[in-house]
Amino acid sequence: MKQALILDLDNTIYPVSSIAEHLFERLFWLLDQTEDGTNYEKIKDAKDELKRRPFHLVADKYNFGEELTEKGIDLLKNMAYDLPMQPFEDYRYIQSANIPKFLVTTGFSKLQWSKVNMLGIGNDFAEIHIVDPETSQQTKREVFADIMNRHFYSTDELLVVGDDPESEIKAAGELGIDTFLFDPENKHPGANATYKSVSLRDVLNHIS
Ligand SMILES: [Mg+2]
Repeated sequence: MKQALILDLDNTIYPVSSIAEHLFERLFWLLDQTEDGTNYEKIKDAKDELKRRPFHLVADKYNFGEELTEKGIDLLKNMAYDLPMQPFEDYRYIQSANIPKFLVTTGFSKLQWSKVNMLGIGNDFAEIHIVDPETSQQTKREVFADIMNRHFYSTDELLVVGDDPESEIKAAGELGIDTFLFDPENKHPGANATYKSVSLRDVLNHIS
């Protein structure tokens, strides 16, 4: 029996694609201005990945270079999203589930908080943790361990729900916490997760 859920935000509670165009408009413009403009495929891949993964990881992977990385970070650090946002339709099942929930998300603080506010989900959570690589060395794994210790949860009393096998799913797995990979497009058929589903609603099958 699970005593608490730990949820990721981006692409777990709402689809980033729904806000990407507006959100990344200026960032994508910045990418298009780079010297490396001839490598169109690379920029296209990087843009696509920016919708799924934190900026600093994508910047590293695609060798944005110091200048572009700095410009991108400057832009994102001060960015907030201020248009209405909708969670995934099935999020309501999790929202109404009678179990304490913790939100743990990686990203720029101001931006992540603005998403929480525009989604109107702040009250769904006992605690909200934003792991901001700009201001802290803390990792999701450390935040999970901290939640577990402070609330005296054992590993088998928790379920971590997320969309990224390399992020929250991996971190929870390393701690021995059960994981639920939400994979609506079946992008990660070989991923190492305790449970996997295309439907967020299935989380309810694994908490009682
Ligand atoms: Mg995510």
